[in-house]
Amino acid sequence: MRVGEGEIATALRSAAVRHEHQLFRHRLGAPANGSLPLEHDLADEQTWAAYGARNLVPATHVLPPEHRAAVEIEITPVDGLFEVFIAVVNTTPAPQDQLIDGVRPYEEAYLDTRLYQVVLTATLDVPVEPYELEQVAQSHRYERSVPAFGHASPVSHKEADGQTTLRTEFAATEPTWRGYPRRESSDAVGRQVPIATSFASLIADPVGTVSTLVDLLDVWVDDKWGTTALDALHAERGWNDKARAEAEKDATAARAEAAWVRAGLDLLHTDPNVRDAFVAANKVVQAAADDYVSWHPFQVAWIVGCLPGMVDPKRHPAVNIVWFQTGGGKSEAYLGLMLATLFYGRYTGVTRGTQVWARFPLRLLALQQTERFAKMVMNAEVLRRQDPRIAHTAAFGIGYFVGGGNTPNRLRKPDGSNYYNGPDPSDPATAEACRVLDNCPLCGQGLSVKWDDPTHTMRHICQNSACELAGVLPIWGVDDDIYRRAPSVLVGTVDKLAQLGQNQAFQILLGRPHSLCPKHGYSASPTWCPVFGCKEDRRPVPKGFGHVRLEIADELHLLDESLGALDGMYESLLQKISEHLKNDPFQIVGATATIEGYQNQVRHLYDREARRFPVNGREAGETFWSTTRKGDPLRRYLGVRSRASTMVTATREVAVVHDQWVRDLCDDPKSVVAEAGLDATDAEIVEEARRAGEDLFEVLVTYCLRNEDLTSFVRDPAVRELLESEDNLAIINGDTSPDVIRSAVARLRNPPAHKSERVRLIAATKAIGHGFDVARLGVMAVMGTPTQASEIIQASARVGRRFPGLVVNVINPSRDRDASVFRYYPEWIRYLDRLVHKVPVNRESVPVLKRVLPGGLMAWFLQVLDREWITGGRRRRSLADSTAFRDAVRDGVLDRALLVSLLRHGFGIDDTSVYHRMHREAIDVWVDDQLATLPFRAEAGKRLPDLLHPSVPRSLRDIEEPLTIYGEL
Ligand SMILES: [Zn+2]
Ligand SMILES: [Zn+2]
Repeated sequence: MRVGEGEIATALRSAAVRHEHQLFRHRLGAPANGSLPLEHDLADEQTWAAYGARNLVPATHVLPPEHRAAVEIEITPVDGLFEVFIAVVNTTPAPQDQLIDGVRPYEEAYLDTRLYQVVLTATLDVPVEPYELEQVAQSHRYERSVPAFGHASPVSHKEADGQTTLRTEFAATEPTWRGYPRRESSDAVGRQVPIATSFASLIADPVGTVSTLVDLLDVWVDDKWGTTALDALHAERGWNDKARAEAEKDATAARAEAAWVRAGLDLLHTDPNVRDAFVAANKVVQAAADDYVSWHPFQVAWIVGCLPGMVDPKRHPAVNIVWFQTGGGKSEAYLGLMLATLFYGRYTGVTRGTQVWARFPLRLLALQQTERFAKMVMNAEVLRRQDPRIAHTAAFGIGYFVGGGNTPNRLRKPDGSNYYNGPDPSDPATAEACRVLDNCPLCGQGLSVKWDDPTHTMRHICQNSACELAGVLPIWGVDDDIYRRAPSVLVGTVDKLAQLGQNQAFQILLGRPHSLCPKHGYSASPTWCPVFGCKEDRRPVPKGFGHVRLEIADELHLLDESLGALDGMYESLLQKISEHLKNDPFQIVGATATIEGYQNQVRHLYDREARRFPVNGREAGETFWSTTRKGDPLRRYLGVRSRASTMVTATREVAVVHDQWVRDLCDDPKSVVAEAGLDATDAEIVEEARRAGEDLFEVLVTYCLRNEDLTSFVRDPAVRELLESEDNLAIINGDTSPDVIRSAVARLRNPPAHKSERVRLIAATKAIGHGFDVARLGVMAVMGTPTQASEIIQASARVGRRFPGLVVNVINPSRDRDASVFRYYPEWIRYLDRLVHKVPVNRESVPVLKRVLPGGLMAWFLQVLDREWITGGRRRRSLADSTAFRDAVRDGVLDRALLVSLLRHGFGIDDTSVYHRMHREAIDVWVDDQLATLPFRAEAGKRLPDLLHPSVPRSLRDIEEPLTIYGEL
């Protein structure tokens, strides 16, 4: 039903008549044939009037254009209630249907038929029945209701004096509040006791300190989750049976969490090696920490909870996920566990070899985390040297292990032969390309990077003679050096897993070097030293060579779709091969930003159960570990939808307004302070506001979901005009080189005095959402709404770190998804971390399996079968050589049954399950194909991987054919 059209049209007409401007006068004739005005026509009023009289429709003939609108109302019965839809409909006739003078139609360019600043208010004398938001996980913890949905606009809702008022709004705002770690809690007799987590007290009395914490946790759990407490909540929140059952489930989870931490405490109590390793980890963090003296309670508890998995991963295989929204600190938690693992290994007989592998889905993230990791590892090395029990073992070192492109994978001295055409390692430019860190992680002084011929390695050298680690640091950035030195800790990208099917040397990381060259380090090959032409006598590997025992997977939620599916398959291969080599299972820990969907994801990635820490509290934002201070602002989200412009253009306008506002704030802070409703006579406030303009608000971060948006934004002339120099703009996306990012971060943290050198605008994609750590950023514009809630959580966490931040979310008017989110924008923000998001990973996909079979085959050959094959006969080459493969098939060393079983085992394909029938068939067909054709295509000098189809990936990202994955999730 449409109402009010006549009334609205009349009102609009009288508004149009009231204004004093001259109406547009078309040129005479149709098509226009009056002449265009010349310069003398524009000389003054008179000449212009004369021109108009000759060439334009007389002013008296011009009719004002018409604007019309109506209110559309639809009423639908739903479940015994009525759903009411009310909208303003623009019924203005199109320009070509309106006449300028009763004769000539308007041209589109001259008549804007849009209606601006429309507000619709509806008043009811009854309360509205709210909608349930199905996108939000159901919970006894909070409402997930929305009183009304907006339609192309947000809608506000007020109930007062028995009346309900719904009103459309131009923008939707939603504040979020800051969370803090809990610092004290009640003990069993109700006294408030501090939760002690200082490094000093954990070093002096680890068992006592952790006992106090766990006791307080138990009291908290009893107090908040006991039957009495639940009964009270039940009554207060009016739970139904389902909500009560859910609350009981959460209560059980809370008790299980407390028991999980206590199990770690017991181990701390009974196993002196665990205790010593835990204390050593605390000493290292204490030494490495610049400005803090204690952990957050959740960090200590999580590390302690992970200890049983560190000692006996077979009995404790669950993947432990740390999730923490407030103030971060996830990295410190897993760094703490990493340190405990390093020392525990050494105290229990491991003398050398790689122990920890931290993998990140993004290069940028790996790079930024390397600094943190290196600081911890180098401090651990200092402590190791001082610890008589382990001083004789190999140094703790770190390797930066990323997909090609960042640092070279292998270096060789040019020797005049044609075998090597890579860069000359003694060239300083090559050394720079291999640089992992700018400064010594220990003393902070600049590092030099130099090629060393005798050891054939690219070295990071600290030249500060006062530094405890002065000299060559155990830091490696070239893959080849990493394999030969087997540093204790690897930090890198997920896609490096592909090396499993590429490089025989990978088995060194799995604890299986063949021998040690006194000059060049470990070798995986029974035949050669990895350095070409080396004639040294190789020695047996020293006792106690370890293997990777802890895997750290950060930003787990980013491992999705094809990367996640491939990673899942390779992960499975890695675990199976490692177990085949008689290693204990890895302990796997992870960090994630989303609270839902992790179980499914971990099952697909690792084929294990997952435990998230911490579990939910009774209220969102309230756990034993942390508390939210309502009213202490964290960030304000502002959702806006542009009308007559694209999202990028609207964002440009945000940038222009921001720029002007910051200038005003710096030049005329008084006016801006007054506009904001603050006391402009208070000199202190004015000065603080001015400083905020130079510091907190100076930089606008624009976040783009797509690279195309970023490109059109930074090319916009109005945006270019805001910039004095290229230095004013920092572009952060997947293609940005690490040194450009480092330089931008440095200029953001310590802004240069000169305006033209300061970063004032950041244009970024997803790449900035992780670890781009600049505490002063305060304002952000987000273009569009990401499909994954985690993405906007991560992105917007860049602003408001220390002081409240503002996020302007520009809704993309041309995307349905954005339109739908805009309908309930405040709720979308409020429930952001509870939005159900099934991470699209499917390890059971047959196309993915087919894609990984060649890599799987090569992995078994290189990491497992090769050594026995090569040493089992005279003059045998690696199975990576096509003729060796042919000979092995001929000799019956490789046969169909073996290949099929290795592939099934490696990728977790069950031998009998009906569910895996298609998977088994795919493997059978592929193996038959290879056995039927490869032996005939084998040729001297031809590598086996080059004959395999599809190709063996070098990185999980560089698969040439896009992979389409279908699957029911
Ligand atoms: Zn140093
Ligand atoms: Zn050698």
